[in-house]
Amino acid sequence: MSDCLFCKIANGDTPCNKVYEDEDFLAFHDIHPKAPTHVLVIPKFHLPTLADATEQDVALLGLMMDRVRHIADKELHLDAGYRVVINVREGGGQEVFHIHTHILGGKKLPF
Ligand code: C5P
Repeated sequence: MSDCLFCKIANGDTPCNKVYEDEDFLAFHDIHPKAPTHVLVIPKFHLPTLADATEQDVALLGLMMDRVRHIADKELHLDAGYRVVINVREGGGQEVFHIHTHILGGKKLPF
C-alpha cells in the first residue's frame, strides 16, 4: 500500500536500521526501543492487523513466527530469552497498521 509506512520500509523507500531481510520478511530496530533489544519483524506483504488474517494467511503467520525464532537466535543472540508481542488494532495499542511482531529482550522483562 502506497501510504503504509512499513510497506515503504519494506520496499526501501523509507530507511530503517535493518537486522535481517529475505524475500518475504524484514526485521529492523524499533526507533523507540522499549527494551535494550527491540526489533520489529514485518512481512513484505501488506496485512493490516492480525485480526484481518484469514485462512489464506496461515502460512504467512507461521513463517513470521519462524523468522522471529531465527532472528532472536541467530541475529540477536537472545539466549536468555525474549518476549514476542503483536499489538492488535487501537485497543491493543497498535499504531502502525501493517502487521508486525515485536521482539523484546536484553534484560529480564517485568510482567
Ligand atoms: O505495535 P505498534 O503498531 O504500536 O508498534 C509500532 C512500532 O513501530 C512502535 O514501537 C514504533 O516505535 C515503531 N516505529 C518504528 N519506526 C517508525 C515508526 C514506528 O520503529 N518509522
